[in-house]
Amino acid sequence: MYSNIPTDEIEHILRLLCKQQDLDSTLTGEILAITKTVITQNYYGFNGRTYLQPKGLAMGAPSSSILSEVYLQHMENTKALSILTKPSIDGYFRYVDDILLIYNKYLIDINEVLALFNSLSPTLKFSLELEADNRLNYLDLTLIKNATGFSYEIYRKPTATDTIIPRDSCHPYEHKMAAVRYFVNRINTYDLSTSSKQAEIDTIKHILRNNSYEVSLLEKMIRKEVMRKPSQQQMPEHPKQKWARFTYVGSETRIVTKLFHHTQVKVAYTTNNNLEKLLRNNTTNEANKYTRSGIYQLNCPTCSKKYIGQTGRSFQVRFREHKHDYKYMCYKSKFAQHLLEEGHSFDTMENITEIIQYARKGRMMDAHEKFHIYDITRKGVQINDRLMILRNPIFDAVLRNRQHTEDRCYLRHL
Ligand SMILES: [Zn+2]
Repeated sequence: MYSNIPTDEIEHILRLLCKQQDLDSTLTGEILAITKTVITQNYYGFNGRTYLQPKGLAMGAPSSSILSEVYLQHMENTKALSILTKPSIDGYFRYVDDILLIYNKYLIDINEVLALFNSLSPTLKFSLELEADNRLNYLDLTLIKNATGFSYEIYRKPTATDTIIPRDSCHPYEHKMAAVRYFVNRINTYDLSTSSKQAEIDTIKHILRNNSYEVSLLEKMIRKEVMRKPSQQQMPEHPKQKWARFTYVGSETRIVTKLFHHTQVKVAYTTNNNLEKLLRNNTTNEANKYTRSGIYQLNCPTCSKKYIGQTGRSFQVRFREHKHDYKYMCYKSKFAQHLLEEGHSFDTMENITEIIQYARKGRMMDAHEKFHIYDITRKGVQINDRLMILRNPIFDAVLRNRQHTEDRCYLRHL
């Protein structure tokens, strides 16, 4: 819908709204100027190229939902008003661009209403869906007309799948339960009959089974939701409370977040294994990996000792510096110093450099570097400056509990 909203009309409507609200000319001018900027700078990137959307509101822009609402509400209050207020129309409900009309079919021709809606703007096209067997689907509900009024069932599109985050997926439990909690809340919020409620519970159980969950989980959650008093739903936050975000990389993540249990820090999880990340074009290939920046490890070709370094420039530029220091017996590089002092040999970048992680310069990179230096120090194979290592309980917790995670990959995501 967004791309079909005629943006040239929005300016006119906003001007009108500002006037109705008695806004002064300066504020009106600012609102119009900001809106114009938002509407005209419609750029988006795809496959490495930048595009400009020539008409309509940008898809995915937070402003688009507000501006389309401005447009549609204006239409409802002007061009469509005469029809919507007719006595033959008993009810008009709209959610974004989904409209539900309750009307007296003996008093009005619904096709006329449709034609009117389709004449509101040259680009917005509405289609009509009529009730069948006294039933009509609207949003996530099936409305059923009966002698006394309406009853409701939960509606799922035929294309809906049972997919929720599977039980064995590497995601925090809280994220996995979000879908189930949503289903349960919906049962309790909507005015469902006992039989529709039972049918929905059966559907949820089916979904749970298809995603390898125990169905008993549902009963437990229903009980919990029913017991929960409204006052408990929104606990006031402690003024000193702070939130910290951790990337969930497996159950080991809890070992770190457990350390915050008795503190004012509340923990929220984020994940890296989402569809966006998996589907996005991966532009890094083997050939140009040394042109990027980040954390690297240099392995001494003679003994098993290691050096961890970070660079905000490219790995290859930094490598050349280590090589230069070795060649000209300059002791600036700790790695070169080790080779020279021990009489160990140098080798090619491909043979001795391991890229630990791509990163940009900053606090995050510093933290990662520290962790990796800490790791090799604990293993006693460190060439970095031994004195700079202080005990770190978080790093210890990670290293102590590292089970099946491969070396070094842990903090990579934190
Ligand atoms: Zn060595």
